[in-house]
Amino acid sequence: MSKMQNVRGTYDLYGEAKRKAKRVIAEGSKIVEKYGFEEIETPIFEFTEVFSRNLGDTSDIVTKEMYCFEDRGGESLTLRPEGTAGVVRAFISNGMQQNLPVKMYYAGPMFRYERPQKGRQRQFTQFGVELLGVDTPQADIEVIAMAYEFVESLGLSGTVTVEINSLGDKESRAAYREKLVAYLKENYDKLSEDSKTRLEKNPLRVLDSKEECDKAVVENAPLYRDSLNEASKSFFEKVLKGLDALGIKYRVNDRLVRGLDYYSHTVFELTTDKLGAQGTVLAGGRYDGLVEQMGGGAVSGIGWACGVERLSMLLEEDVSLPRPIAVIPVGDENELKAIEIAYKLRKAGLRVEQAYSGNLKKRMMKANKINASKAVIIGSDELKENKVTIKDLSTGEQKSVMIENIVEELK
Ligand code: ATP
Ligand code: MG
Repeated sequence: MSKMQNVRGTYDLYGEAKRKAKRVIAEGSKIVEKYGFEEIETPIFEFTEVFSRNLGDTSDIVTKEMYCFEDRGGESLTLRPEGTAGVVRAFISNGMQQNLPVKMYYAGPMFRYERPQKGRQRQFTQFGVELLGVDTPQADIEVIAMAYEFVESLGLSGTVTVEINSLGDKESRAAYREKLVAYLKENYDKLSEDSKTRLEKNPLRVLDSKEECDKAVVENAPLYRDSLNEASKSFFEKVLKGLDALGIKYRVNDRLVRGLDYYSHTVFELTTDKLGAQGTVLAGGRYDGLVEQMGGGAVSGIGWACGVERLSMLLEEDVSLPRPIAVIPVGDENELKAIEIAYKLRKAGLRVEQAYSGNLKKRMMKANKINASKAVIIGSDELKENKVTIKDLSTGEQKSVMIENIVEELK
């Protein structure tokens, strides 16, 4: 295979797709900043342990999907497959525990060695948020409301469903785990080889398996709901009441679990039926044990991340830039004046294109081709009186304008 191609599962983002991705991130940033979140940028690679020790050693990401490499100093490094572990690592290494709560958001590339399909890439972009240091349901409500406002602002609230579940606290999870193991043991022969191993190491992971045979077993598995203790039930009720109060529609999905080890209590996803099998556009949950597990003390956390490409694919409207203004010199002798005027107009905030070469006719054709709204035509005779012609390319109307007045005229 030619090495002058992009690597499988990676894409060049440009034109409309890039504009849409940019809009998703700009919209997201604007919204979460209203809620007091500040942007953080962590390195794209971390020590491998940051992920391997914290995402769970039987998770899909850790077992199959990480891009690990040894650098020249012999360190094992990994291109980040997700954002939370790196942000929490940064939270701890920068001593941010001193000033809780901490609210951060990020946007950037993630890397997973997956089978490429529509909406599933090996390099993709996530926009995500993390709220650290609030252990009450207010945080869950706020963070979900923010996700909802985000998709709403993209015009997608009608396309997307909020699904939610509770995995409960440690005690509930232990109780559930016991019931689940008993059930899976009864169905041992029907499980995939991977899930047989998971049953030993981390039975909860079987719930998240994508193998058909496992899915069939999971269909009748015990529900978390029946193992939640009173505290966990009341926590979950408060979250749902909060969403009700905000008028945010959701569907409690008893089968919703998340693929990573660190989740507890609330887990949620925003899903759509418009992207085939890759229907989850945003996913998140509470991770109260993660900071402690990473050595940062008992600080609770909750967050979500969205797939920027998946959300972009749902956007119908191309976000077009304002129509440009074309600056056109008549004859080579006015070229410099054209450059000068274009510079002046751009500094005044206008979007300006120069039709770089050719005679007047050719340049006018180019101006139409780039969909310019107006042309500023610079001819020698007029220039002697410090004037240029401004032509409206939609109506064909034109008028002579003093150079000092063109900004005003065009705005
Ligand atoms: P899936 O079940 O689709 O594999 P996941 O549980 O692995 O998703 P998360 O780790 O929760 O996904 O990531 C959050 C979001 O990031 C997903 O909901 C999705 O929108 C996006 N995402 C995850 N993996 C990819 C990928 N390989 N390509 C594109 N987007 C992705
Ligand atoms: Mg995945």
